[in-house]
Amino acid sequence: MRPHVVVIGGGFAGAAAASALTEAGVPVTLIEQRSTLGGRASSLKDGVTKEEVDNGQHFFLGSYRETRRFLRRLKVEDRLKFFPSLRIPFASAQGRRSELRCPSLPYSWGLAAGLLRHQELLFRDRWSLSRGFVSFRLRKIENLADLTVSQWLDRLRQTPGARRAFWTPLCLATLNEHPDAACAEALSSVLRQGFLGPSSDRRLGHSTVGLSKLWAMEFKAYLKRQEGVISHQQKVTGFRVSGSRVEKVLLESGEEVDVGTVICAVPLASFMKIRPEGLRDHYRELETETHSSILSIHLWFPRPFMDEPFVGLLDTNVQWVFDRHKMWENGGASPGSVTLVISGAAAFEKMTSEELVEMAMKDLRKCFPLLKDDPIHASVTWEKQATPSPSPDGWKRRPSVATPLENFFLAGDWVGPGLPATIEAACRSGHQAAKLAQAFFEKAASPQNITMTGVGTC
Ligand SMILES: Cc1cc2nc3c(=O)[nH]c(=O)nc-3n(C[C@H](O)[C@H](O)[C@H](O)COP(=O)(O)OP(=O)(O)OC[C@H]3O[C@@H](n4cnc5c(N)ncnc54)[C@H](O)[C@@H]3O)c2cc1C
Repeated sequence: MRPHVVVIGGGFAGAAAASALTEAGVPVTLIEQRSTLGGRASSLKDGVTKEEVDNGQHFFLGSYRETRRFLRRLKVEDRLKFFPSLRIPFASAQGRRSELRCPSLPYSWGLAAGLLRHQELLFRDRWSLSRGFVSFRLRKIENLADLTVSQWLDRLRQTPGARRAFWTPLCLATLNEHPDAACAEALSSVLRQGFLGPSSDRRLGHSTVGLSKLWAMEFKAYLKRQEGVISHQQKVTGFRVSGSRVEKVLLESGEEVDVGTVICAVPLASFMKIRPEGLRDHYRELETETHSSILSIHLWFPRPFMDEPFVGLLDTNVQWVFDRHKMWENGGASPGSVTLVISGAAAFEKMTSEELVEMAMKDLRKCFPLLKDDPIHASVTWEKQATPSPSPDGWKRRPSVATPLENFFLAGDWVGPGLPATIEAACRSGHQAAKLAQAFFEKAASPQNITMTGVGTC
């Protein structure tokens, strides 16, 4: 076997890392425990309708540069559709329709103009938002990393109306956490990087195909360019370390893989179970990390009832409704099939699927009074560990890509400072890990001391 880098995990982070290494001419072996790629951003087949549904609706932002770089590398970037400017339609439980429409003005001007015209905001809410943004821009409140979003909004003297129609939906959609628990610095970072820069960064985008069709096939073909290998249904259970290097990756099957360089791109909870012995203490404080859940309720109606691809809901338990038929332009979802989403959904974890569907239908009927049909079919997808919770402590503890072991690097949405757990954080850390791994590989790899044994391929 030629020397190679072993990447563990076939989600966005692992795939970004593996493809970047392939682009640089470095052979890769990717080990994935499942039979499919995509990790937490993938599709499932509904048992009754046989249609694919995503495990949860995923939004992309114009500011996702590393994600787009990864998709461009595989020549599939055009499968994302970006709207020309930020426009979010809302429906409230009182049956009112409104929209946040931000013109293509740069920096704070675009968002400010959109908020000043948002019909769900009263004059006093707009005034409190304007004052709040000025304080934010002038950095009048310090130590945001120690504050929750709610504490920050108290200091910015934000009205209940501004929180209801802007801050809370923004916090849940971008951090997957409620303002009482999420870190203020995390939301400030989202605002700076996603909403207060050039207007092109603020554009919302979505995949026009199911997530499993977004990049997996092209990725497999791409890896083959450098004789890369994807080893499916192989679960890593640990590592053997010698001195300051990982020497072997241990598989559940009992096999051991000799390695020269490793990128570990698994979710935080998996990493904590398999992390090398020598790193137990180094990452001990991550043992107390908690996760936020996302609930998706997929409904099939006999006919469409939405005139928009997605609508934000206000004053309801459900936060978003997506028309899958409108979003997947290349087919794959029948007219009238929608997905409802609740982020930060811990409060609903004890409810049965029937109760959840009933609750969702009540919300839908309030927001869409013309909807008279009952769904023909419903299914529920829970992601109980959707993302690590961006609490003030969690935000400060995000680890870096490099580790104390010289040939062992981390990637994943929980790795790297300054970004919440998103696809962009996954791709950014994957690309950074690939760079460090390549440098190590080129310095240290030689055919004599790196061989590979025992990994099945497909
Ligand atoms: C419902 C939902 C909605 C979301 N919405 C958005 C959104 O709108 N926008 C956004 O940017 N982000 C969103 N996210 C977050 C986004 O999906 C994740 O941040 C991203 O997919 C994480 O990618 P990753 O590669 O870091 O991890 P993962 O996708 O979890 O990939 C890790 C891979 O490692 C494999 N693995 C784990 N342990 C082992 C092991 N021991 N051995 C071998 N393989 C292993 C797993 O099977 C998995 O394939 C959402 C997440 C969920 C769940």
